[in-house]
This record gives sequence, C-alpha cells and structure tokens, in this order.
Amino acid sequence: MSDVDNALDAVIEALGGQRREGQHEMANAVATAIGDGSHVIVQAGTGTGKSFGYLVPAAVHAATTNNTVVVATATLALQRQLVERDLPRLAEALEPVMARPVTFAVLKGRNNYVCLEKLHGTVPEDESEALFSTKRTELGEQVIAVREWAESTETGDRDEYPDEIDPRVWRSISVGRRECVGESKCAFGEECFTVKRRLQAQEADIVITNHAMLAIDAIEGIPVLPEHDAVVIDEGHELVDRATAAITSELTVAMVEKAIGRVRKQIDAETVERLEVASETLDDAMREEALALGGPTQLTSLPKNVLLALTMVRDACNNAMSELAADRDKEPSAMAARQQARGALEDVHDVAGSLLIAGEHDVVWLDPGENRAPTLKLAPLSVSGLLREALFNKTPVVLTSATLTVGGGFDSLVGSLGLSESNVVTMDVGSPFDHAKQGILYVAKDLPAPGREGIAMEALDELAELIEAAGGRTLALFSSWRGVERAAEYLRVRLDAKKFPVLVQRKGDSVGNLVDKFAADQASTLLGTVSLWQGVDVPGESCIQVVIDRIPFPRPDDPLLTARQRAVAARGAVGHFGVDDRQIVLGLRTRRAVAALVQHEEVIALLLPLPDGGEPARCRARMPCAIGDGDRSVAAHPHGMGGPLQRVGRIGAGFGEGLHPNGGGAVEHLRIIGGKGAEGLPLALFAHGAGKGDFAGDNVAGQREILGPARGLRHSGPA
Ligand code: SF4
Repeated sequence: MSDVDNALDAVIEALGGQRREGQHEMANAVATAIGDGSHVIVQAGTGTGKSFGYLVPAAVHAATTNNTVVVATATLALQRQLVERDLPRLAEALEPVMARPVTFAVLKGRNNYVCLEKLHGTVPEDESEALFSTKRTELGEQVIAVREWAESTETGDRDEYPDEIDPRVWRSISVGRRECVGESKCAFGEECFTVKRRLQAQEADIVITNHAMLAIDAIEGIPVLPEHDAVVIDEGHELVDRATAAITSELTVAMVEKAIGRVRKQIDAETVERLEVASETLDDAMREEALALGGPTQLTSLPKNVLLALTMVRDACNNAMSELAADRDKEPSAMAARQQARGALEDVHDVAGSLLIAGEHDVVWLDPGENRAPTLKLAPLSVSGLLREALFNKTPVVLTSATLTVGGGFDSLVGSLGLSESNVVTMDVGSPFDHAKQGILYVAKDLPAPGREGIAMEALDELAELIEAAGGRTLALFSSWRGVERAAEYLRVRLDAKKFPVLVQRKGDSVGNLVDKFAADQASTLLGTVSLWQGVDVPGESCIQVVIDRIPFPRPDDPLLTARQRAVAARGAVGHFGVDDRQIVLGLRTRRAVAALVQHEEVIALLLPLPDGGEPARCRARMPCAIGDGDRSVAAHPHGMGGPLQRVGRIGAGFGEGLHPNGGGAVEHLRIIGGKGAEGLPLALFAHGAGKGDFAGDNVAGQREILGPARGLRHSGPA
C-alpha cells in the first residue's frame, strides 16, 4: 500500500468510517498528479468521501515536501466544512502517522475582513456617515452591533459574525483591494486582519480559498495567494463560471458617484465638476439605451452616446487621479483617504477604458436592471485560453466534483478548460449510493403558468401545504429574489409561525449562519435563491424536502451565454464536442442539484418539467438533461433524459410506480420540488419511500398525494 493509502486508512479509521475503494482510487490519482506535476479530473459521486480523497494526498505531499497546496472551493459552505470539520479531524488523525503535524489556513478576499483603518474612522466616508446618523432604526442598531463585534473579534472575518449583515453596514468597515493603503503605509498594518491571514497562509501546508481568489491570482496576475506547487479545485463544475465572474467588469453611475464622493474634498472644484458632468452624461446615455431593453442585451458596438460618455468618464477620472498623485501629504489618515479615493477612481477609470477598447474576444452588454439603475458589463468571450495559460500551464491541477460529465464523458468540461484529453487524466470513481432506488418524483398538475409577479399563488399554496405535510424541514429554492420575497410574505400569513418557522435568505446574507439555523431547528423551512443549491449540507432530519420553483434553465437571454454560443456556431461546431453550451449548463446544473440533495442514502430530488396534461412517459422524454451517465445522444438532446432516475411519475397515472419500488409502502422521507418550470411547466416534487407502512402507490389519484403515516404526514386526496 502507498503512503497515501495508509494515511487515508488512518484518517477513515479515526473517524469511524469504512474503507471506500473509490476514495482510495481518487486519493492515489491525486497523489500521482501532484507528485509528477500533471493534471487529473475526478468525478466523485456523493458519498465517495471526496474531500478526504484529495485532502489526504495534499496533506501527505505538503508535509513531506514543505510546499503548500491550495484548495479552492466555489461555495462558502464547502469552505466552512473543510476548515471547521474536515481539516481539524484530518490533522488530528494524521498526527500519529506523520513526521510533523499538518497545518492549514483559510484565505478570503480582503473585503471579507474588517479593515481597522476604516473601523477607527480616520477616513470619513459618505455612506458610513449616513448610516451612523441613522436614528434607532433596524439598520442603525445593526451598525452599532456590528461595530461592537468588530472591536472585539479576533479574526475580523465577516462570516464569524453571528447574524446577517446589511451590505451597506459591512462596506462601512471593510475595503476592497484598491482602497487599501497598503500595510507598510497603514497605521494599523501590524494588526491588520488581512495581513495576519496572509502570513498564516504562507506558513500553512494547505490553504483553503475560493475560485474567485484563484482566478484573480492566476488570470489577473495579482498575487493574492501564497507560493504553492499544486492546486485542488473542488466544485470544479463551477470553475468556468466563477472565473468568468471574477474577471467580469461592471460599471454603474453609482460607482462614479461613489468615487466623486470619496475624492471631492481632495481635488479642485473644477476637477470635481468635470467628473460630475461626465457622470451625468453617462447616466443619461445608459438610461436612454436601457429604456428600449426588456432585459440584459449584448451591445455588439457601443452606441455613440455611451461611447462619448465613457470617454468623458475615463478622462475625468484620469485627470482626478493625476491631481491626487500630486498631493504629498504623508499624514496617515490623509494617505488612507487618498488611497480610498484613488481606488474608487481607478475602478471606474479601468472599466470605462476596457469598455472603450473591447474587441471581438470580449462581450459587452447592458443590463437595464431593477429600479432603472442600468449596468454596463464586460466579460471575455471565453476563459478557456486564460485558464490554460495562467493556471494549467503553470501548476499541477486536481479538479473534482460530484458532477462533471455530460453524456457520460468529460470532453465538454475538458474543452471548456482549454485542455484536451491528451494532457489531463480523467476518471469517474462512482458513488456508493443507488440513485435509482432513492428517488421518487411527484409532479403536481394544473398549476397556472407564472405571471408577471413570478410564482403563482396556487403554487405558493401548494408549497404551504407541502411544508405542513412534511412538518417543516423544507428547503425551498427560487430563481429570483422576488420569488423568495413573495413566498416569504405568503407563508408568514399562511403558516403557523410557531409550528413552522420560516427562515428567509436576503441579498448579501451569510449563507453559513442561515443554514446552521435551518439545520438546528427541525421544524424550520428555509427560503432562498438557487444559490443555495450547492454546498449546503444538512444531514439528518432537518431537510427532508426540497422545493424548486422552476427548472434551472440558463436564461434564454443571457448575453454572455448567447454570445458564446454564437461564437461556437460561427466556428461551425455545436458547443464542445457536439453538445450545445446551454444544454451543458442546464445538464450540469440539474445534475448538481441532484447530487447536492443525495444525502446519507436517504433521498434524491429532481425537478421534472411536465407540460400541462402531459403523461409520465412524456415527462421522461422531456427531461432536459442526463441525470446519470446516459449515452451522449440522450444527454445532448434538449429534452432527453438518461441515467438511473427512472422512477419518475406524476400524481395520478404512473405515480404509484414512482412512489415505491414495490408498489406500496409509507413514505418515510419526502422531498418535494415544486413550482413552475420554464415555458409554463408545472410543479414537481420528489419523495422517498422507506418501504414501511401501508401507503399504496396505486391509490394515488390526486394532485397532492404521498405522505404516509410514518411521520405524521398527510394524504391530501385527489385533485
Ligand atoms: S492594511 Fe489595508 S485592510 Fe489592513 S487595516 Fe490598513 S487599510 Fe485596512
């Protein structure tokens, strides 16, 4: 047995687990890739023990070579799991078998930590001033509470604050990269939380970070990570999206106004006026263009008025920056104020400049936004070349996830990363779960199509009944914030709040705290956006039901995706290796959802879009992606379904088949996915039959069925 096998056995034994061949296969492949400087892509299904499958070889490598391995996750939830649960247990378990203890550290972006310079208020800032002058409102009280916490925290890490924080409050005590004056010039440089974290990371064997930090370090060439000789990317299905997001630039009039607010007191009135005129011109131009748009729209060339406004903004910022640079005041608070002003100006200047020179390898689009606040955005047409050059050509990379294949192959993923199968090893180590025996689908019929207000009242009513039936324990995910708000408003009136407490995700919330609350209270229901689809691990009985308001189709009008598809079509291909990009996105998203919901051999859940009046057989035919590894033709077909989730049924004919493999039995666990799919598709849900009791599948004739007696669930009769 290899060192890695021995180390993995030691860890698993210490944790009281059992040997899993897939996990050993993965660990050895990871060790080989890191050791010989190659790349490996590993699909490790739920239940494989994927995190130890890479952490153990990474730890063995780091501790024996004294080099650092960087592990990047897409979600904060997984980051927390690694740092708070897996790595401490791994370090303890390996201590007796390693020559020295394994160390680890977490590293996030600067704006995740309290900035002491800003906290101590040497630089007056418009927004924080406004917040502090707020009387005893909810926000005002939050400002006081957060600042009290910030004065006493040992880490300054936003995620350790025990409650949600309004983004405006957080901004008043944190800075972005460009606003930081730099530790050598900062009066608080020695105590700075970000600096301390960086130093810790430089000493650690394993550094946990996120995809965005990895992209900034590798693609943008800004050294935010410590020296390392291998990278592990977990939730690797997200890498392309997260890397794209990290290097997507945005420009709003609010950004320009913020920069003016910061710089106003430090430059001539004439220079301020020039900035203000440029800002107003941009405001007029963007609003004028946005008026005609129904949603985010690609600008294949910049309209003249936008071109003129951007030129004015860029030049006015340039002018103001030159004036700032001439200021020689060395007093620390003056330097900090100048740096914050400079950072805000640079942000605007650089985006305006990039928009003006965008070429055929860029995509520019205008998002009219909510509340008539348009945003100009700029992203690269493709990140594959950037990833290849900046990441894969420089460092051995291990990329893993529970869901990486499309149509049973890695070729679409490998292509999107700018690689070919000849320079990367790909493997699928499977999953110990039997998906086919764990999932049952419920499709409610006759729900109206979503209207202008989003999810229909009838669907919300259905959701309320399902929550009551499951005794809370529901994770309900919506495709828009409006959907979350509507459901929250409705459920607060409709449900008994004592029996069924409802937790609601708000923009900017710390997901970790919300999920902890949800996991701690079995009767609770958590409403959130589809961002909670992944990285949320709620073992046990607190989450037995999942509701999704629509199938996760990428927006048909997504300008970036559309531009990428056009570019592919122009090359005479259809997506990577014959699979359409939109289908790849959809396929991976849906499979991801399924993978995320398979927990502890209990349940899986999946949304099935069923046309009104459709038959179950047609449901299957219309499933828009492969869930398992069906053949390519199934996966590639927009309405094809492959894979093991065959027990799909609709309430009414065919549902009994899905309800229990033996045609009967109580439903012990229930998971429900509901809502309207794209194109007016109806509610769908999944349930898991435990095989006890007297629930008979074929007695199901109604719209809301299921719910056997085992856990007090309810039978709601025919529609
Ligand atoms: S070094 Fe930068 S982040 Fe740290 S306290 Fe100073 S200004 Fe804030």
